[in-house]
Formats: sequence, structure tokens, C-alpha cells
Amino acid sequence: MNTHAIELTTRDGEQLRFECAADQNLLEAAANAHIVLPAQCGQGNCGTCYADVTHGDFILGKHNPAALPADDEAKGGTLLCCTFPQSDLRIDLPFDHDRILIGEIKVRNAEITAIDSVGENTLRLELRLAPDEDSGSVAEFEPGQFMELEVPGQDIKRAYSLANISNWEGRLEFLIRLQPGGLFSTWLREQAAVGQTLIVHGPKGAFGLYESGLRPRWFVAGGTGLAPMMSMLRRMAEFQEPHPARLYFGANRPEELFCQTELKALQAELPQLQVIFCVWKPDDLWQGFCGTPVDALAQDLADAAVLPDIYLCGPPALIDAAEAVARAKGVPNKQVLSERFLPAA
Ligand SMILES: Cc1cc2nc3c(=O)[nH]c(=O)nc-3n(C[C@H](O)[C@H](O)[C@H](O)COP(=O)(O)OP(=O)(O)OC[C@H]3O[C@@H](n4cnc5c(N)ncnc54)[C@H](O)[C@@H]3O)c2cc1C
Repeated sequence: MNTHAIELTTRDGEQLRFECAADQNLLEAAANAHIVLPAQCGQGNCGTCYADVTHGDFILGKHNPAALPADDEAKGGTLLCCTFPQSDLRIDLPFDHDRILIGEIKVRNAEITAIDSVGENTLRLELRLAPDEDSGSVAEFEPGQFMELEVPGQDIKRAYSLANISNWEGRLEFLIRLQPGGLFSTWLREQAAVGQTLIVHGPKGAFGLYESGLRPRWFVAGGTGLAPMMSMLRRMAEFQEPHPARLYFGANRPEELFCQTELKALQAELPQLQVIFCVWKPDDLWQGFCGTPVDALAQDLADAAVLPDIYLCGPPALIDAAEAVARAKGVPNKQVLSERFLPAA
């Protein structure tokens, strides 16, 4: 069968090329050429493999509309896992070359070293990678990336964003919201214990810090969407990056906010970091911002002297609302980066 030439350009201007048949999806064809692009579900459901087609024709297969907002689709946006080329294609990738793996995704064993409740239905899970021949005990990943954890005894994986940063000891830290009746959530609630082994796949994903000079960085997190923000802020603290930074962290009720001690510790290391706790349904004692983090973002963008880079993570509804606010205030699309915590199909 004839194939089409696919040319990818990363955000930092690197180019990669591979061939793809008309009945093959771009993600699979790239992987066959040993180019592993950031992706998660591979079924048009999670939105992780988003990219912009700048030239050529393609068919977009079955996908979840929540993973590809209509506005993005209208301007050439697509999901690589369900894109079938009908001509040669040129595609812009919304991430840098270092997020593309040339080779295979790592699969490693990791021992559970801690499971702590940090709030209502929210856990902090800590794992330690078993040393292997390639990596020793190192946990190597970029802030903003996620790992996939296998549900023990089942051929099923769930994605969780890393909350810590690369380290020599193999530590992986996650913040996990337990979903009622969820497969992995139920396993965590009822069976998980310190000392058990999990199989982890990754790191994966393109979400992360965008090097754009010294523009302010504003982070907007709903619930466990805080995890990748903690990772990015911890990296900024480690490297003492001087960008003005704000974190808008939202929950429905004051008692649902978590990681307040960790955030205070971060502020001590990163003095320019402002943390704005936002509560949608406050009680009489609440003294912080009343409303969603998107309300707080809208208010502060109106007064911003420099339009910041905006990082969004959490439920899709929060991200859609924040993107609409950013657009309305004139923040260019390339300054808005997001990760949607969509449930598995
Ligand atoms: C790239 C990526 C990163 C993610 N990172 C994190 C993270 O750091 N922390 C975290 O807590 N989650 C994260 N998620 C979500 C996570 O992967 C799982 O979807 C979630 O934990 C539910 O898995 P489960 O097996 O318990 O439930 P499932 O068995 O998948 O679902 C069971 C039921 O719960 C519903 N459900 C599942 N998730 C949700 C939800 N979010 N809201 C409402 N209903 C839901 C399903 O529709 C279904 O009816 C991430 C998702 C993606 C795509």
C-alpha cells in the first residue's frame, strides 16, 4: 500500500519524518519508526497526543469530543492516535523534542513505600523503583510528566501525574483522588499496602515547563491536578528559577484542600511564589478567596501588566473554563498549557 510522508516539527524547531499508510494512525506509524510520541490511552479519549496539522488532508477517527475541544479541531487540531493521513502531512507538536522517546517506554517494578490520606478521598502514594540494569535506582522524568500504574492482577493501566522531581533514590510521588467504584481507586482503598509491588510504565506525557524567557508562570490546579504543578514548582525551586510564579489551587470546600504544609515549604524555597487557595463553597471561617481558581485567574488577568504563561491541570470542565478566560483576556494560545485528567474509556 502507498504511504504518506509525515513531517513533525517540535516546539523547539526540531524535525522528524516517518511514513504512514492511509489506514494506519499516526501514533502507531511513528512508534513503528521508533519515534515514541507523548500519548496515553491510544483511543482518542485522553487528549494527551494533541497536535496541530498545518498542511495536508486527514481523516479524524472516533474520539471523545472532551479530548479535542471544537475550537481546537476547527483550527487544525487533532489527536494523533485517531488521525489517518489522506496526503502528506506537516504537523506542529506542542512540546519540545526532549519529550519524544527514541526507543521503547520503560516498564519497571516499584515498591509501595507510603500511602497517606491527605484529604477526603485523596491519597499520597509513594513508590520506590527497583534498581535495573539500564537506570540503576534512578527515577528520571521531566516535571509535568505522568506514569501509568498497572492495576495488580489485571491487564489495565491508569495514568497518574508525578508530584516530585527526578532523584537518585527512585522515588515516585503521586496525589490520587479515589473515584467511587473506580478500578484502581477500589484497589487502593481496599487492598494496597506498604511493601507491595506495582508495575509502572513511563515516564510519559508532554505537559511541563515551557522555556519562554522570564515571563511570569501562573499555575491553575483543581484537586489532584496539583500533582504536576508541585513537580514543576519543585523543579523551579531546585534550580532557583527567578520567574514570578503564582499557584491557584481550588477545592469545593476548605477541608478538601491538601498539601498546605508542602506548599508552605515550597514558598520558603521559592520566595516569589504566591499561593492563592480558592474555595467554591466556603464556611464562615474561610478567609481566603471565595470562588473557583478560574474566577481568581480571571480577576488577576484583568490587572496583569505582562500576560503570563498559564499552566492548567485537573478536570476537563476547569480547563475549558480557564482556557476561555485566557482567550478572552488575550493570552496567546501557545502560552496556555494544559493536562486533562480524563477518565479511561
Ligand atoms: C494524563 C493523565 C494524568 C492523570 N493524573 C492523575 C493524577 O495525578 N491524580 C488523579 O487522581 N487522577 C489522575 N488521572 C485520572 C486517573 O488516570 C484515573 O482516570 C482515575 O484515577 C480513575 O481511575 P479508576 O481506575 O479508579 O476509575 P475507573 O475504573 O477508570 O472509573 C470508574 C468510574 O469512575 C468514573 N470516573 C473516573 N474518573 C473520574 C473523574 N476524574 N471524575 C468523575 N468520574 C470519574 C468513570 O467514569 C467510571 O464510571 C489522570 C488521567 C490522565 C489521562
